[in-house]
Amino acid sequence: MDLRMSAEDEAFRLEVRSFLQTEWDPKDYDAYSMNVWSYDFDNLAARDHAKEFQKKIIDKGWWLMSWPKEYGGDDAPISRQLVYSEEMAYHNAPASQPQGNIGGAIMIHGTDWAKENFLQGMRDNTIDWAQGFSEPNAGTDLASLQTRGVEDGDDFVVTGQKIWSSGSHFANWYHVLVRTDATAPKHRGITYLMMQLKDDKGEQMPGITLRPLYDMLGRRRWNEVFMDEVRVPKRQIIGEVNRGWYAAMTTLNFERTGIEGATRLIGVLDRFIAQMHRTKFNGQSLLKDPVLRHRLADARITLESDRMLAYRVAAMQAKGEVPEKEGMISGLRALLTAKNTFWPTLGHAIGPYAALLKGEKRAPANGVYGTNYALSMTTGFGGGGGILLSPNLIAQRGLGLPR
Ligand SMILES: Cc1cc2nc3c(=O)[nH]c(=O)nc-3n(C[C@H](O)[C@H](O)[C@H](O)COP(=O)(O)OP(=O)(O)OC[C@H]3O[C@@H](n4cnc5c(N)ncnc54)[C@H](O)[C@@H]3O)c2cc1C
Repeated sequence: MDLRMSAEDEAFRLEVRSFLQTEWDPKDYDAYSMNVWSYDFDNLAARDHAKEFQKKIIDKGWWLMSWPKEYGGDDAPISRQLVYSEEMAYHNAPASQPQGNIGGAIMIHGTDWAKENFLQGMRDNTIDWAQGFSEPNAGTDLASLQTRGVEDGDDFVVTGQKIWSSGSHFANWYHVLVRTDATAPKHRGITYLMMQLKDDKGEQMPGITLRPLYDMLGRRRWNEVFMDEVRVPKRQIIGEVNRGWYAAMTTLNFERTGIEGATRLIGVLDRFIAQMHRTKFNGQSLLKDPVLRHRLADARITLESDRMLAYRVAAMQAKGEVPEKEGMISGLRALLTAKNTFWPTLGHAIGPYAALLKGEKRAPANGVYGTNYALSMTTGFGGGGGILLSPNLIAQRGLGLPR
């Protein structure tokens, strides 16, 4: 087996790398911040900075490399997409749009009007999406959702409550699941809609109220979203009435498999090692400590093996195969490594300094390691609770074990 990329892909890797050297400096917004959507979640300047950078990617023609040509994309081969994602991730650059996975669902299930209007907004990065799936009593068991949608003329009238809508205070559009038939079996009475959250002036649309939810470090990360008789034109449907579940699964299938996740952490690790090398304790570099060296080597080996699992997924996709269990295994491993190996290793290495967060003078790398170590406890609960459900899915669908 030859795991090397083609000469053409490697040349492209160098092109992306040199672009990043001139166009992207993570220190511009904060030293080695993990990514603008988590560590620095409430940093508005970082968000603006990300948008400026994304404009350069659009101009370069890389923004939609994975999209089909008919929708303005490049239909790039999987290997090229992989190289691109890895380079961007290694350098911690915000190369994709949060919730960009909805694009695939619109292409497959959207009305012509929706394709015309929403895909354009994604091409020029003017739509900021939030996802409205979870409800107080519908998380892992998503199909239990209760938000109502009632047909009225050309509209659906939506009333109900969502929870954990990431970044919804920054979003102008919402893709949201509502119940349109309360008598049907629970997966069959759901409709998938695109709802406007803010008008062109940035004002919240009528009937929509956001109540902030903060993470354990005090960042406003989510909101509860209350909808009171919000009118959604029928042309903003994705899929068919009462068949929204299947269209929503398309969105979730497009959710990034984290193919570049291992490389992102390898980038963090390399920068961490450089910092440990520079940091002296009793006159000696911290890297002289054999226990620390072993731990860091162990983390690196784990990340490299995770990377190979991701490559297996990419190789299958390149052959047109559907990597169902392979994708789940790779995704689960990435979550487990981040949560149980990677961030705890870095957190333990800096010891009490991990308690110092952003803005505190002695915080290594402005608190990025400590912040992510703390937040890693929640890793795996998002995205429908993958860390909890994947072992069951791998056992049943992958290994054919009984339920
Ligand atoms: C960082 C983050 C971002 C998020 N962003 C969004 C977003 O943008 N939009 C959105 O709609 N939602 C979002 N969510 C919500 C996320 O999808 C839900 O948290 C997830 O579906 C789990 O649902 P829940 O929290 O209600 O937990 P529950 O479903 O109530 O589960 C609670 C516990 O029950 C156990 N459990 C439940 N079912 C099973 C099972 N079948 N097998 C084994 N154990 C089980 C588990 O121990 C689990 O921890 C986000 C969550 C996080 C953490």
